[in-house]
Amino acid sequence: MDPIVLVHGGAGDIPDSRVAGKLRGSKMAAARAHRLLQAGGSALEAVEAAVVVMEEDESFNAGYGSVLNLRGEVEMEASIMRGSDLAVGAVTLVKDFKHPISIAHRVLTDSPHSLLGAEGAKIFALEKGFKTVPPESLISQNARDALNKFLEHREFGRTEIGAEHEGGVGTVGAVAIDSTGSIAVATSTGGMSGKAVGRIGDTPQIGSGTYADDGVGGVSTTGHGESILKYCLAHSIVKLMEGGLDAGTATKTAVNGMTKRLNNTAGAITLSKSGQVGVHFSSKRMSWAYIRDGKYYYGIEQGEVLSEKFE
Ligand code: ASP
Repeated sequence: MDPIVLVHGGAGDIPDSRVAGKLRGSKMAAARAHRLLQAGGSALEAVEAAVVVMEEDESFNAGYGSVLNLRGEVEMEASIMRGSDLAVGAVTLVKDFKHPISIAHRVLTDSPHSLLGAEGAKIFALEKGFKTVPPESLISQNARDALNKFLEHREFGRTEIGAEHEGGVGTVGAVAIDSTGSIAVATSTGGMSGKAVGRIGDTPQIGSGTYADDGVGGVSTTGHGESILKYCLAHSIVKLMEGGLDAGTATKTAVNGMTKRLNNTAGAITLSKSGQVGVHFSSKRMSWAYIRDGKYYYGIEQGEVLSEKFE
């Protein structure tokens, strides 16, 4: 089995000014994880590494650069799943750690529980040796501007005004298969700009933001969280593949089905167990990238597949 990793940098009405940063960051994340897989790393290590790259990058709504809640605070969420034994780890309402995905990974390996939130996630992280950072150090100017714009119109997903500052999109995710055929998925987000204090979205919820099963495939999602979680989008895609659809058709069917039923947009990236790639979004844009046979494949616009040499 040739290892492969596919990443996304969030679905939504991404303004033109953010396109280049998201494409660059998505390719960098894919490259980091690809090298790790080539060196014999596990799928779980690879998806964490890809997400860590994007959590560090202000172009994405995860880690540093996360969007802000109504009180102007960062409250981050992340989940990770291993398809060989359906092991999961997730955290929510994390305010003062740089890499929520790494804490989620430790929940998977070291906790009898699946999802830890707020104070409990912090206690666990400190016990495992993670260091806190000042919450303000995670806030970017773009996130502040996005919250100010939201406070003017107070409509989630409204983008016709202030698109340059909308910034509320850019959840990140990765799906990988390693050389043993094991699949893993990781997803990390700051949520939605202007969200209520304590709001929990789809990203930390297994089956909504993240799902992996070695017998079928893996999926990471992004988009309108309240819709994604009602539709259990990641699990819906896996179930469609289990029923015989290929990765591309399953991804498109479920994303469009969610949008039709709930009138909000989303995107997803999918790998089938044999390494088929599925990328689909009902939003205006979603950045994604992977590397295969010495070439990057990537895009952000509807129907776009760009490619260039990977060295
Ligand atoms: N799904 C995320 C949330 O609602 C946001 C996003 O993907 O941009 O929390």
